Amino acid sequence: MRFVDEFRDGELGRAVAAQILAAVEPGRHYKVMEVCGGHTHSIYRYGIDDLLPENVELVHGPGCPVCVIPMGRVDDGIAIARQPGVIFTCFGDMLRVPGSHGTLLDAKAEGADIRMVYSPLDALRIARAEPHREVVFFAIGFETTAPSTALTLMRARAEGIRNFSCMCNHVTIVPPLRALLESPDLRLDGFIGPGHVSTVVGARPFEFIPADYGRPVVIAGFEPLDVLQAIHMILRQLAEGRCAVENQYTRVVSYEGNVRALQAMAEVFALRPHFEWRGLGFISQSALRLSDAYAELDAERRFPVPGVRVADPKACQCGEVLKGVIKPWECKVFGTACTPDHAIGTCMVSPEGACAAYYNYGRLTRERVSA
Ligand code: SF4
Repeated sequence: MRFVDEFRDGELGRAVAAQILAAVEPGRHYKVMEVCGGHTHSIYRYGIDDLLPENVELVHGPGCPVCVIPMGRVDDGIAIARQPGVIFTCFGDMLRVPGSHGTLLDAKAEGADIRMVYSPLDALRIARAEPHREVVFFAIGFETTAPSTALTLMRARAEGIRNFSCMCNHVTIVPPLRALLESPDLRLDGFIGPGHVSTVVGARPFEFIPADYGRPVVIAGFEPLDVLQAIHMILRQLAEGRCAVENQYTRVVSYEGNVRALQAMAEVFALRPHFEWRGLGFISQSALRLSDAYAELDAERRFPVPGVRVADPKACQCGEVLKGVIKPWECKVFGTACTPDHAIGTCMVSPEGACAAYYNYGRLTRERVSA
C-alpha cells in the first residue's frame, strides 16, 4: 500500500538501526522523549525500542489526550450528564476514564444519557435531531482535535442551534513541555516532536526547546521508519554538537502549520489562566476555554459544575509515567489491579496511553544491541 509499506520496510528499518548504532557514543546514556501518545503506540506496536542500542532510552511524554484528564474533570462531566434533559456526548476512550466515583460508562449504566461519538459533528447532528434535549460535547485533545471542535461550534452558531454546547478540555502542547524541561526529576537529551499536533501548529512553536534549553527536537511521523529516522536525526544532532528543530514529517507538517485551523481556534477559544493536568498539577495557560464570543455555547456557563479538585488514587502512578520518571511496568498495579479491562489510571485506557501500549504490545523478550 503506497505511503504505508515503504515506511514499514524491515530491511530499511535495520539499515537505519545500524546508522543509529553508529551515531551513539559508547558509554553515554541517551534519554529521548517521544512527546506524543501516537508515537508511544507505534514504538510498542512495532518493537522499535528493540532495535535501539541499550544506551538509547525512550521516555514517554504527556501527549496522550485522554491520559492527562484529571479525575475532577470527569466528575464535572458526569455532573453535567446527570442534569435533566441532557444528552452527554464524548469520544469512546473517555467513557472509561475513572472519576472519583466511577466512569462516564458507570453513569450511563445508572441512567444518564451518555453517547459515544466519533466527532463533534456527530454531537451536533444529535442536537439537530433532538431539538428538545440539551446536547453537550465533552471536548478533549491537544491542538490536533481543537480545530474540529472550533469549526463545529462555528457551524452551530451559524445555524442558530441553541441546544448544543461544549465542555472544553482542550489542552496545548508547549506549556507541559516547558514544565517537563524545568523539572529537576528528568534529564532529557532530545525530543521526538508530536507529528499530529504539528500538522496544526507547525514546527515553529518548538523553537524554544533548542533556544532556551539546548535540546534537539525532530518532528516525526508515526510509521516505524519515521520514528527510527527521527531518533537517528536527534542522535546525529547530538553527535555533531548541534541542537535545532528538524522536521522528519515533511510530507504533512510545515513550519507555519495550518493557518486556517489556527484562525478557527483563535476565534472560538481563549487561554485558561491555568488548568490541572493529571500527574503534572496546575500549569499556567495550558488549556483552552470558549471565548466570550462563544459563551452561549459553553456548557460550563450553561450548567452548574462542581469544579472540585480530586486527588488521584494512592495506587495510581500515572503522573510519574506521564512525566517519564517511571516506565509503565514499574507501577505497582500494572497488569494486576490495573489492566485495559479494569483501568485504575488513565494511561491504561487509551491505546495511546503508555501503559495500555506496553500492556498490549510490549511484553515481549527484548534483545538489545550494545553500543
Ligand atoms: S498501571 Fe494503571 S495506575 Fe499504574 S501508571 Fe499505568 S495506568 Fe496508572
